[in-house]
Amino acid sequence: MIDVKEATNTLLANLPFLSAETCPLGDAHGRTLRQAVVADRDLPPFDRIMMDGIAFHSSAGGDIATKGMRFPVLCLQAAGSPAQTLAVKAGCIEVATGAILPVGADTILPVEDIESHGDHVLVPPGTSFAPGKYIHKQASDHPAGTTLLHPGTLLSPKEIAVAASCGCAQLEVSSLPSIALVSTGDELVPIHETPLPHQIRQSNAHTLAAAILSRNLGQPHLHHIPDDPSELESHIQHLLGMHDILVFSGGVSMGKKDLLPQVLEKLGVEKVFHWVAQRPGKPLWFGKTQDGKPVFGLPGNPLSTLTCFQRYLLPAGDAMSARTPSHLLQIPLAEPFHFAPPLTCFLPVALTHSAGGTQAIPAPAHNSGDYSGILLTDGFLEIPARTNEAQPGDAFPFFPW
Ligand code: AMP
Ligand code: MG
Repeated sequence: MIDVKEATNTLLANLPFLSAETCPLGDAHGRTLRQAVVADRDLPPFDRIMMDGIAFHSSAGGDIATKGMRFPVLCLQAAGSPAQTLAVKAGCIEVATGAILPVGADTILPVEDIESHGDHVLVPPGTSFAPGKYIHKQASDHPAGTTLLHPGTLLSPKEIAVAASCGCAQLEVSSLPSIALVSTGDELVPIHETPLPHQIRQSNAHTLAAAILSRNLGQPHLHHIPDDPSELESHIQHLLGMHDILVFSGGVSMGKKDLLPQVLEKLGVEKVFHWVAQRPGKPLWFGKTQDGKPVFGLPGNPLSTLTCFQRYLLPAGDAMSARTPSHLLQIPLAEPFHFAPPLTCFLPVALTHSAGGTQAIPAPAHNSGDYSGILLTDGFLEIPARTNEAQPGDAFPFFPW
């Protein structure tokens, strides 16, 4: 049996990279960027007016402090129109937010500070003004040629905004692998069927599909195979040819009907590790095909399945798609926690937030079949083996569900 750290490192060292593909910007949300995005123009591309109001030259505002001023309005500088020119030094141009600064103007007064009278405006005495105020200077955010997005970035709305403003109608992103989610077990029935007293509904595949879709890790395909060696063998052989990643739930523990490891190895899937010193999820199995496809055997207990997914498949998905790993928060316990076995404990917790910060309240599951017990929790803390007595304030890595 290996520990969690070794399992993680071994897993990450045995994964393939997904290929890159071109995707329209409209479909790129949630995908992993595989190119740099470079500013093709200055940001902003021109001196951009930030307020509706008037533009004039500061040298014409000499009497504002004492008597106030009357400015004739020469014309309108609308957003989307080429720059007007301030033809009369003592005049002003009516301007709109988003318009380019007229040539010869250096000062903006917003509508709130002036009185408009059609062909002229009055600026009350004592109105404060400053050249450059309310002008978003060309290139003040970034000059053209600056790299704004780097490969490995997960594309969320703010990155889409930047890519769109740089004119990227399409982007190079990691391809989405086809992922087989295979429930194994004689006791399992599809969720639309009514189970007999000794049967249960195959919830795990739906859990995993939701987790995969919520992180945009690939396209899930659901399958079920009973605990029968020849059915397992023929069905898995078929799935190995169809999918890029195989994720099994159930059948990897010590029972007589836990046949998955031997069937996988018979089919030429090389075992990389089996059994990890952790709870839940000890029977975790991981291997790879001769052509490098990853194969995960998650223990069937629903809490084990979900915990192993979050703890191992998410980082594996990040690594395969060359995604920059998400930062793990360290969250302190709100209460003491006792755990004796020499295993890493994945402890479900509910987070509480106060002015003093965020804390984790332990909500240990009754057992790893207790998936409804995590409904009121936010994720789990990874508490290293041999911690035994964790005290309030002790901080551990937090994995959100
Ligand atoms: P196993 O890992 O096959 O020994 O299964 C452990 C426990 O998880 C058993 O109680 C199974 O009935 C349950 N289980 C296995 N697969 C699923 C599934 N797809 N959905 C819900 N429970 C499952
Ligand atoms: Mg089983």
